[in-house]
Amino acid sequence: MKAVSIKQPGSAEELVIEDREKPVAREGELLVKVAASAINRTDILKRESNQLQPPYPILGVEMAGVVEENNSGNPGFAPGTRVASLVNNGSYAEYVTIPVERAIVLPDEFSFEEGTAIPEVFLTAYQTLYWLGELKEGETVLIHAGGSGVGTAAIQLAKVLTKATVITTAGSQEKLDFCKSLGADAAINYKTEDFSERVEEVTQGRGVDLILDFVGASYWEKNFRSIKVDGRWIVIGTLGGAVIKEMNLWELMGKRITLKGTLLTARSDEYKAELTADFVKDALPHFKNKKIHPIIDRVFPFEEVQEAHRYMESNKNIGKIILSLDK
Ligand code: NAP
Repeated sequence: MKAVSIKQPGSAEELVIEDREKPVAREGELLVKVAASAINRTDILKRESNQLQPPYPILGVEMAGVVEENNSGNPGFAPGTRVASLVNNGSYAEYVTIPVERAIVLPDEFSFEEGTAIPEVFLTAYQTLYWLGELKEGETVLIHAGGSGVGTAAIQLAKVLTKATVITTAGSQEKLDFCKSLGADAAINYKTEDFSERVEEVTQGRGVDLILDFVGASYWEKNFRSIKVDGRWIVIGTLGGAVIKEMNLWELMGKRITLKGTLLTARSDEYKAELTADFVKDALPHFKNKKIHPIIDRVFPFEEVQEAHRYMESNKNIGKIILSLDK
């Protein structure tokens, strides 16, 4: 089968389409013919990682496609069933295998592009808002990188599932307007304003109950100023740097902040299966009734994977960048 890997760690130019062995579904697994995959920041980090040794892995962590072989014994996933899912062993490929517990049956009205726009960003947003962030009705959440794949998912989930007050940050007027169209109550341009001052204004000095932080170091102090006493702060990304030069632990103790970090890709199969099951129960019905939408920015043909990576690196996208294999 065709699959995308790298010639060596480095820039998008190192991405290469090559022949790989078609995977075989083990007991409990589905073999899926992939129709669409999607680009994530984690793919870029992997592409650049000097930790990798040849043979280099297939990139990609999510896909949507059609079940070709069901080796799970679960009759709900007969060949021909349309599914979407997180993938462990690379999803920029013509075929993948997945544990059956992780497969989301795609609602009929969804295209494969819409299907692959769901697993990574919506499961991350759901996990960080609810499993880790314990967001409750009536609370206020600060969602950074509001125009990102995860940001656009988190804004919608927080509004529809919890009716939370959502404050978001982004770097252009177009992204701020889009975040508001998704339901954000306040949208702050972090390039022209100090977001912590606006958070103070919007929350009338109280601060936010929860922060979803994709940015890390460059937002560190402003996040401390923005969070309320007993607030929760989930570190999900390091787009603004990973190393904090100085930190006064009294600030953490004084505000009794709960600070958690997470990486979804490295979680166990069991964790991903339970997360998927909870998400399907709580959130999928809202996709079916059109209150929540997968947000797609652009679809690139599989052959243009280098261009798709460069597009993400340019920070232009609002929502997901898709790779289509559906010819
Ligand atoms: P994405 O769609 O590529 O969006 C990222 C956006 O972040 C950019 O478009 C840019 O928008 C903004 N940004 C970039 N650099 C920034 C900086 N230095 N300061 C402030 N904003 C910046 O990303 P994604 O795939 O949704 O992922 C979002 C983040 O979540 C990434 O850090 C990713 O690694 C992380 N993530 C983590 C997990 C996990 O389990 N920990 C899972 C999934 C994703 P602006 O125009 O607004 O600047």
